[in-house]
Amino acid sequence: MNCKRAEKFLLLSFDGRLGEKDRAALDSHLQSCSLCREKEKEYRQIFSLLHVETPEPLPYFEDRLMAKLKEKEKSVPTLFWQRWTARAMAVSLAVAILFGAGALLFRPQEALELSQPEILLLHDENPLAEAATILEQKKPEDRNMMLIFAASEMRDPARRYRP
Ligand SMILES: [Zn+2]
Repeated sequence: MNCKRAEKFLLLSFDGRLGEKDRAALDSHLQSCSLCREKEKEYRQIFSLLHVETPEPLPYFEDRLMAKLKEKEKSVPTLFWQRWTARAMAVSLAVAILFGAGALLFRPQEALELSQPEILLLHDENPLAEAATILEQKKPEDRNMMLIFAASEMRDPARRYRP
């Protein structure tokens, strides 16, 4: 028996519409399939909730369940929605981790291959604007130091002289 068939049998069993042979087949599937055991647990909870809500003679459980699922989530036990949310969160987390790992892998390489102007652009510093900054320095000693450091073409921007 596959899981889809097991679920159908499960719904029938809640209505007492499952034959003895099918019941045995369902039981043996439940024993080997934790996914369907979990499903049975959820259905059991929903079933008991539906019983509490409607004391009058009931239509088939499956029909009621489908009707319930079509309503807004507030009237349906949150189990289904919780499961979907958890799944969506797991996926987006995996994507985030993937991107994070990608960034870590590629960043060091990038840093080594970048030229000096590219590094300046990466740090949002316009090379031309930097030249202008040097010339704008009021204190002549600051300007001289900056010119010296700029002329020596320091590879590391962190070591550039900043008064
Ligand atoms: Zn199963």
